Amino acid sequence: MSFAALDALDWPQFEPGTVWLVGAGPGAPGLLSLMGYRGLQEADVVIYDALVSEKLLDLAQPAAERIYAGKRGGKPSPKQADISLRLVELAQAGKRVLRLKGGDPFVFGRGAEEVLALVAHDIRFRIVPGISAGIGGLAYAGIPVTHRDTNQAVVFLTGHDETGDVPAAVDWAAVANAAPVIVMYMAVKHLKSIAERLIAAGRSPADRVAVVCNAALPNQLVVDGTLGDVERIEQLIAPPAIVVVGAVTALREDFDWYVGALRENGLG
Ligand code: SAH
Repeated sequence: MSFAALDALDWPQFEPGTVWLVGAGPGAPGLLSLMGYRGLQEADVVIYDALVSEKLLDLAQPAAERIYAGKRGGKPSPKQADISLRLVELAQAGKRVLRLKGGDPFVFGRGAEEVLALVAHDIRFRIVPGISAGIGGLAYAGIPVTHRDTNQAVVFLTGHDETGDVPAAVDWAAVANAAPVIVMYMAVKHLKSIAERLIAAGRSPADRVAVVCNAALPNQLVVDGTLGDVERIEQLIAPPAIVVVGAVTALREDFDWYVGALRENGLG
């Protein structure tokens, strides 16, 4: 079936005055869902975040307004409340508003805060899930987030809270013992203190760690090490990065498929 034939399918209507919250995936533009693609074609305005591929914006109509809502060049990012309000105002003005967020909009992406604002103002919305960096981004590094021989559970957590500190609400002892595999978003800044907490809570300093920077992008970089060795790892990494602890990381020795010419393919 060609993309032209796809257009003829029975898509949901993107109605004026509604908001679609769309996950763009972790980096490679080819990882956007078909529903997201459809929404981009129909939107009057696209409000997008820093980690979203600019190539996806080209899928919108030429006349569609593009509004950047991420951090740029060290300038303070727009306040979350302002972004939410903007969504509300644009919808109230009768626009088809597409909110394009990195990864999945409901995974550490403040999507829920935006939906709360829409609900409070009686604005209809649709959620279009995306491929989250902590799953799909790892796949691009050849790391399966679960494998029957290594883990029956996974913990996902964020490495900093809204104050920028290690999240106070995380029970590190519980995290360390809950699952063999721990996947951490936004954990670069506090990697050392997180590793220390995990070791203090019973994880071995020899536990494997992989850090996937710029996952699913041509400049993807994966650094392997151990929990006891994060000071060395820290020298080599930069955000955006996903940190994964656990034996699944060993599989990438055989599974590391996103290399060489594959990276030159612009869609991922
Ligand atoms: N909603 C997003 C996460 C937003 S929080 C999702 O589901 O993926 C932003 C964090 O996501 C970054 O600090 C980083 O930890 C992670 N991240 C997003 N894109 C990434 C990428 N291409 N490579 C590595 N990490 C990424």
